[in-house]
Amino acid sequence: MSMTREEILEWLTCADATPLFGRAREVRVRTKGNAVFLRGLIELSSICDRDCLYCGLRRSNAHAHRYAMADDAILACAAMARDLAFGTVVLQAGECARLWTRDRVAELVRRIKGETGQRVTLSLGERSEADTAAWRAAGADRYLLRFETSDRNLFAHIHPGAGLSGPHPRVDQLRRMRAQGYEIGSGIMLGLPGQTLSSVADDLLLFAALRLDMVGLGPYLAHPETPLAREATPSEVPVSAEFTCRCYALTRLLLPEANIPSTTALSTLDPERGRERGLVSGANVFMPNLTPKAVREGYQIYPDKICVVAPEADSLEALHATFTKLGLRPVSA
Ligand code: SAM
Ligand code: SF4
Repeated sequence: MSMTREEILEWLTCADATPLFGRAREVRVRTKGNAVFLRGLIELSSICDRDCLYCGLRRSNAHAHRYAMADDAILACAAMARDLAFGTVVLQAGECARLWTRDRVAELVRRIKGETGQRVTLSLGERSEADTAAWRAAGADRYLLRFETSDRNLFAHIHPGAGLSGPHPRVDQLRRMRAQGYEIGSGIMLGLPGQTLSSVADDLLLFAALRLDMVGLGPYLAHPETPLAREATPSEVPVSAEFTCRCYALTRLLLPEANIPSTTALSTLDPERGRERGLVSGANVFMPNLTPKAVREGYQIYPDKICVVAPEADSLEALHATFTKLGLRPVSA
């Protein structure tokens, strides 16, 4: 469904968005029925070569705990996803081409697909066309790379070295990966210092223009060990669960078929009801965390990160209770 920039801005700013949430729910039911897709998130490593101003894993954060999982441990997590009937694993890490070489990732993808039958989504940051081509040839199904903001000035400010000239590097990579046959996922953070409401409207329109298969968006949560947390520039965009859900709902209307996770950042902001609020505002995906307990604490992109931890029974039980309450049925996909 198409929407104008003005209509989007109206929904982002109106006093009561109840009708928007209702419409988004209707569209989700029409396109996804009562299915909710589970994806097992594996946080491979907290080592990162980049210095994004907002992220706790940035290379200049000397206080970050650094770890990297071994291949057999990653395979064991993927086997857990299979045993829990998730259907997909998401391999996410700080960007580090030294650690996650072309050949190593290709072999990991081949092994996960061959030994566990899980679909593989990669989220390893900005990588070369040759790398992503090799991983696609090895069987990778999807790639997740948030463009974070379509505002080129803001993007350049929060990504040292990105520069202002030429195409948006992350949007450029998404287009290349689409041509390579990936299902592509992207997204943004909401409430960045200096972010404007009209840039968020542009972000949502860009989701539609890119015909994204997956859209992950969540509130920006300041990490005290990062430069952005010390920046006084105000944001026009609220860091709130309600605003985040408005963006889920608008994304659902713009991209009826997209897979939209109710994100960890939303649950961190509203631990009591966040995941439920996401799922009744148009989201249809949930990503339990499969990262082994021994290292999980090290993946602190922002503080107090809350997540459903699989396969811990109480965590999964609570998740399934939410699904039952909402009339949703977990489906392997
Ligand atoms: N390194 C890869 C990349 O940047 O695409 C994947 C890992 S990165 C930690 C995944 C996502 O975390 C980013 O795309 C960003 O949107 C989100 N993120 C990082 N710092 C955040 C923060 N302080 N608050 C909310 N989300 C954050
Ligand atoms: Fe590294 Fe990704 Fe964090 Fe940027 S957002 S510092 S690339 S982990």
